[in-house]
Amino acid sequence: MHLVIKFGGTSVGSLERIENAARKVIEKVKEGYKVVVVSSAMAGETDRLINLARHLDNFPPEREVDMLISTGEQQAIALFAITLNKLGYPAVSLCGWQVPIITDHVHTKARVRKVGIQRIKNLLKEGYIPVVAGFQGVTEDWEITTLGRGGSDLSAVVLAHALGADCEIYTDVEGVFTADPRIVPQARKIPRISYEEMLEMASLGAKVMQARSIEFAMKYNVRIHVRSSFSDEEGTWILPEEEVMEKVAVRAITLDTKESRITVVRVPDRPGIAYSIFKALGDAHIVVDMIVQNVSHQGYTDMSFTVNKTDADLAESIVRKVAAEIGAQEVVRDDHVAKISVVGIGMKSSYGTAAKMFEVLYKNNINIMAISTSEIKISCLIDSKYGELAVRELHSAFIEEGEEVKVINET
Ligand code: ADP
Ligand code: ASP
Ligand code: MG
Repeated sequence: MHLVIKFGGTSVGSLERIENAARKVIEKVKEGYKVVVVSSAMAGETDRLINLARHLDNFPPEREVDMLISTGEQQAIALFAITLNKLGYPAVSLCGWQVPIITDHVHTKARVRKVGIQRIKNLLKEGYIPVVAGFQGVTEDWEITTLGRGGSDLSAVVLAHALGADCEIYTDVEGVFTADPRIVPQARKIPRISYEEMLEMASLGAKVMQARSIEFAMKYNVRIHVRSSFSDEEGTWILPEEEVMEKVAVRAITLDTKESRITVVRVPDRPGIAYSIFKALGDAHIVVDMIVQNVSHQGYTDMSFTVNKTDADLAESIVRKVAAEIGAQEVVRDDHVAKISVVGIGMKSSYGTAAKMFEVLYKNNINIMAISTSEIKISCLIDSKYGELAVRELHSAFIEEGEEVKVINET
């Protein structure tokens, strides 16, 4: 049976840790699995490389950024393969283009289009352990791409799908928790979680899994086991909803401090204004998240929205141009915002969650700047200095004191 095992940056953060990871792989090989390893860059390396490029140019050409940041994974896989060979297990490292994992041309956040699996299958047949660089892709015309931050998760899920295998994600926490365990010590490990909830959590700041990897896993039913590379404990299984027995109104609390808020002040309130602003942002491939338009006064209104901090400089400069054209008074940017969310599939069929969330914030004197909801989440934008406090208070209200888990699908 095939198994894809992925190690995150901390798990390969030093030569000792690579050896520890290699021993995990060897255990699985001894159990009879045909293992494919996917490795991230060593902890901190991707950030270091990005900072080098930014030091030279605030908007470096994205093709060159990919050329640079993809090298972190190349170092890690070579060290990993050397370690496995030293321990007596023949291994061959492969870059994304050697697999190949073929993507579109959107540098730094490329989408996977195709994956060739034959070379990996041949290596496995010959008794080698393939060690694949996470995060890396290649276009049809041989340009190197990367799959977005945290993209090694996606590489692993894509390969698991191509091999019809399960996917083990080894990281520096014991699984997916009800909140980031670094912020909330009382957070609990979730034994099984649905793709839908995990996708929402990942999109709302729980960086333990990359959101796009969950989107892909959900589409192709790839089973994922998230666990710690520093223990042998069972972690969290991410599975189709029908295999997750428990349903709770609120499964987890998330915090996202990676967004900035941009406000266009005193824009004329007439048809076409929102279109001019958001069309310009869309043309620049900028993803806009929360949008708030105030009630107008004397024909003028304020329009606020959030974007990823990495896009904020560009978004601000685009919006300043549009604002001048449409006769807005000014553009204000705030980097000190945080989005806190409560997530749970059970919210679909429960009520009172929003009121309870607003009550917790009110009792802690935290002002809400924007709200957005979906069937399975409620998010509030607040001042970032209250972000961690809000997560702890919401966790306490919804999860520690909240209702006990309701078991459904009982037979
Ligand atoms: P890796 O380098 O292994 O890919 P990441 O740093 O990307 O690891 O993700 C793991 C981190 O995600 C943890 O160290 C933890 O602080 C953070 N995290 C945020 N929210 C959660 C959550 N709900 N459950 C578990 N970890 C979380
Ligand atoms: N090294 C890449 C990053 O830091 C990919 C990954 O770790 O998943 O985003
Ligand atoms: Mg990660």
